[in-house]
Amino acid sequence: MPLKTNDPNKKTWIPVPMDSDFPIQNIPFGVFLTRDDIITIGTRIGGTAIDLGALHQLGYFEGIPLTDDIFLQDTLNDFISDGKKTWRLVRNRISEIFDIKNETLQNNEEHRKIVLFTLDEIEMQLPVQIGDYTDFYSSKEHATNVGTMFRDPENALLPNWLHIPVGYHGRSSSIVTSGTPVRRPMGQTMPADADSPVFGPSKLVDFELEMAFITTDANALGEPIPVDEAEDYIFGMVLFNDWSARDIQKWEYVPLGPFLSKNFASTMSPWIVTMDALIPFKVESTKQDPEPLPYLRQKDKKTYDIHLEVALVTENGTSTTITKSNFKYMYWTMAQQLAHHTINGCSVNSGDMMGSGTISGPTPESYGSMLELSWGGKNNVALNDGSTRKFIEDNDTVIIKGFCKKDGVRIGFGEAATKILPVYQPKKNK
Ligand code: MN
Repeated sequence: MPLKTNDPNKKTWIPVPMDSDFPIQNIPFGVFLTRDDIITIGTRIGGTAIDLGALHQLGYFEGIPLTDDIFLQDTLNDFISDGKKTWRLVRNRISEIFDIKNETLQNNEEHRKIVLFTLDEIEMQLPVQIGDYTDFYSSKEHATNVGTMFRDPENALLPNWLHIPVGYHGRSSSIVTSGTPVRRPMGQTMPADADSPVFGPSKLVDFELEMAFITTDANALGEPIPVDEAEDYIFGMVLFNDWSARDIQKWEYVPLGPFLSKNFASTMSPWIVTMDALIPFKVESTKQDPEPLPYLRQKDKKTYDIHLEVALVTENGTSTTITKSNFKYMYWTMAQQLAHHTINGCSVNSGDMMGSGTISGPTPESYGSMLELSWGGKNNVALNDGSTRKFIEDNDTVIIKGFCKKDGVRIGFGEAATKILPVYQPKKNK
């Protein structure tokens, strides 16, 4: 089926501001609450949210095999389950409906009033019910930096790292959408000068600049996904901040890996950008040496050129861009991660989420966490209001943004913004 949605010359009758993340070539999917308190699946062009449930009820998806209520749901899981062919048919149709030359909806005021919303009339929800969440550790620069700080600069990468896309199973219950504040966690730590652990607020709360991909039902239990087919089972990508408490992490992570230091919260951007929308931004992936084992050898080993940046906004509203990185720096591709994840027969479901791991670039200005930016708390990170940070303080807001740009088309992801609140205080009995 031809992809009609990526034509850089395509124009829409919906107003799209300059440098919008959401031109007609993007057509992401999300879930929102409308001004009438109805939950629906939608898309977005410029600053306009589009109710796909209403469009479907009005007959605009006629001819596409969809159940009547496919968009009248509070998650995208069933739509994602319909598979790549259906995602393409739906995006092609949306692209036609909003094409500047198409007057059907454009000239139907009654329908427009039902289908279109301004962003202040809607409230974005978590777009998928995440069954399982896995986090990888696939940036060589990040793994090297952390290994250098915590272990030995001479042997920064552990012996398995260049052979396995290392990962761990995370927790989906605490994944929240952009705008949801997160409380500083309490926990157990072992201070450097102490001989027994202490309990209290984490002192080293950190962000992790990541992206995540969302899968469809990919395989039955016992059946691996071949690496060259893996991308067909990826629905799309989001920005992802994998909140971390470094002091809790340091004390708990041996021998079974991170636990409470990671599962208190992770933040995702609410619009899922499809893999089809990202096709024009494919680039060569990092050369891998040594060559991986055959099940990880990908014929067309491409990745995506996605500019990433993190802003820290202090309580007084001052914003500072503290790092700029790029998704293309990843050593392992998403296809390799998914092939590795399922090589033992582990099944993957619609709405599962896989985090990339912290995406650090080759230079100190491109590191993807405060742990690296402050080099383990040794250096101060300067902010525009004159203050400094080593880690994230209460009432700081961390905002991850990301976009691709080529041939005058910008496809972006919006943002994943999170304010860190002080620790939870139990309510006193009256
Ligand atoms: Mn992580």
